[in-house]
Amino acid sequence: MRRIPKRALATGSVSTATVLIIVNMLTLMASMTCIALSRSVYHHHHHHHLHRYARHHSPPKKSFPCPLWSSSFSFCLQSPHKATSLSLSNTCPSASAPPITPQALPVAGAHVERNPLLQNFEFPPFNVVEAKHVHPGILALLKKLESNLEELERIVDQLDVVWGMITHLKAVKDTVELRAAIEEVQAEVVKFELRLEQSKPIYNAYKALQGSPDWNVPRDAQKRIVENRTKGAVLNEVALEDDKREEFDKNEQELEKLSSKFTENVLDATKEFEKLITDKKDMEGLPATALGLAAQTAVSKGHKNATPEDGPWVITLDAPSYNSIMQHARNRALREEIYHAYVTRASSGDLDNTLIIDQILKLRLEQAKLEDYNNYAELRMAMNMATVDKAEELLEKLRSASCDAAGQDMEDLKRFAKSQGAKESDNLRHWDIIFWSERLRESKFDISEEELRQYFSLPNVMEGLFNLARTLFEIEIEAADGLAPVWNKDVRFYRVKDLLGNPIAFFYFDPYSRPSEKHGGAWTDEVVGQSRVLSRDGASARLPIVTIVCNQTPPVGNKTSLMTLKEVEAVFHEFGHALQHMLTRNDEGELVLDAVELPSQFMENWCYHRETLMGIAKHYETGESLPEDVYRKLLAARTFRAGTSILSEIRLASVDLQLHTKYVPGGLETVYDVDRRVCEITEVIPPFPEDRFLCAFYHIFAGEYAASYYGYKWAEVLSADAFSAFEDAGLNDSKALKETGQRFRDTILALGGGKDPLQVFIEF
Ligand SMILES: [Zn+2]
Repeated sequence: MRRIPKRALATGSVSTATVLIIVNMLTLMASMTCIALSRSVYHHHHHHHLHRYARHHSPPKKSFPCPLWSSSFSFCLQSPHKATSLSLSNTCPSASAPPITPQALPVAGAHVERNPLLQNFEFPPFNVVEAKHVHPGILALLKKLESNLEELERIVDQLDVVWGMITHLKAVKDTVELRAAIEEVQAEVVKFELRLEQSKPIYNAYKALQGSPDWNVPRDAQKRIVENRTKGAVLNEVALEDDKREEFDKNEQELEKLSSKFTENVLDATKEFEKLITDKKDMEGLPATALGLAAQTAVSKGHKNATPEDGPWVITLDAPSYNSIMQHARNRALREEIYHAYVTRASSGDLDNTLIIDQILKLRLEQAKLEDYNNYAELRMAMNMATVDKAEELLEKLRSASCDAAGQDMEDLKRFAKSQGAKESDNLRHWDIIFWSERLRESKFDISEEELRQYFSLPNVMEGLFNLARTLFEIEIEAADGLAPVWNKDVRFYRVKDLLGNPIAFFYFDPYSRPSEKHGGAWTDEVVGQSRVLSRDGASARLPIVTIVCNQTPPVGNKTSLMTLKEVEAVFHEFGHALQHMLTRNDEGELVLDAVELPSQFMENWCYHRETLMGIAKHYETGESLPEDVYRKLLAARTFRAGTSILSEIRLASVDLQLHTKYVPGGLETVYDVDRRVCEITEVIPPFPEDRFLCAFYHIFAGEYAASYYGYKWAEVLSADAFSAFEDAGLNDSKALKETGQRFRDTILALGGGKDPLQVFIEF
């Protein structure tokens, strides 16, 4: 998952980051369509928010009045950045300068300081403006305008980075105090962002740029951003009449609050559940790592003498713990209890998300209607590759193609369970499926997850991943712990360098699950983006910094973290997202697209690449390599129950689309009815009536995947295609891999977001 913890906008693609891009764009434009811009683009009122922002986030800056602009332009800020203050003082003389009369200007045209166009006046000095003032005056003005635009970008970036930092901490180190503090200022931040997004002047600037004869000059990234910015959704938002805009903004504020609450409820509900187990019989079937983790959790909850062998043990709904029960616990009643707790998280009592979901869907629909769309999905997709119809078509194709295979999976499972003497074999329920699949996998492929773990220690996995990145993309990754402060002792920090040894990016890696303070799942986020304008030293571009967050099994006892293959795939996946941020050549930032899951799913493929996997898989104690026959079994097992797993993803994508197209909030059908209807055609056993999984469906109710969850499937098709290009080149031919890797880097990683994704893909 790629996560953007900033405000999830109704328009999907336009975030604060995008607004930054806009400003960057304008800088470029200023040098192209000079005059048109200086008059028509900048109205008087639209910079006021800068002052509001400055008040909130930094000590009041002393702004000095800027001649010519002070009346109409209220944002001549003194810059904290050296470069800008210099340029300001060059072109923006202090108001206290002695008044200048035309007589005192023998060469007025040549002296910016004495140009009447640049003076502070109440009434325009018509009597003294001459032709010779025009050229130097306007050029000086534009120069200043540019530096102010850069300053605007810096200011907005500061909000982006600082707010991103706070929301990141909330996601990985949540506390009651932090929640309250964020809640207190959230409305102000949203208000500020809305004002920027809806700015008619900035929008007009775009239109002007598109219409200008120099339109062919901007690079693709800028072009695409302009095109998106002037497309449907944004146009509608900008064009909203005042009363509608008020409603729109009110709804956005409310939506923001609701999604925060949604996330908090999921975390709290997950945290709230714990099951103490004292009878060893109940833990039957659990492998050593799971027992160790459960005992370790028990110790942390005050059962000081807990041991892996004799307990007591504590089970939680955190992924490593929950999965271990579903996969391995022989006690069927225990599996049922844990399953039930998991799929009903945040669906009752104080933490109930039911009403929140309905309210979110209602407001999203209203937002869509305000912008003249039929439903929220149409609005979200206005800027995506797919349309609602195309997405539904893809899902239906995949669904019907997987049904038979999934049905066969179920038959196989029943037969196997029966052969093992399972009483429930004719009536397998949801809490039986994972358990019996695991047993069937073990018997069919002779692979035990627990034994496999021994071959996937975190340090080896990371080393193998970095080796792969060197081969494919010619980058070096080195540990740089201590260079940057971290939020937890287990967080690692890395520096990415090119082949010449020049740093090109940094990333944090937060690997382990921490149920008490960290959200579930895995995600990647940008701390600061690559930017030329936001250079720190005024010479070289600012380098991207990224966070990769996973929730894998923590080290148990004195052992290093031993991972399941699924956990390894998750790290590769997130690293794929990170690469797109780190290897971008797109200084204008990045947009949210339905192709965003391309590089991430592409990277997952490498977990099965022989050289990569064998390079990683070394026994954590003996250092011996994974036996060749085990590797072959892993390959064979890769498509095990593929039909079933595709269907379960289709369920999520379909319910997401349905809720954002046909569902009528407050109507006769509940969201759970919709989910059940979808389950009936995506599950081969009857749906679990009490399933309230939607109450924890973070992706669509609090993340960026609303009406876009289908993007996983959409991009998977592309990523499989991309990987096959490497296969065609020859997976064992390191020269061919390098060449193809370079091409991948130059197109999909470097241009992502800056260009029509389909174009980028075709280029690759
Ligand atoms: Zn992802």
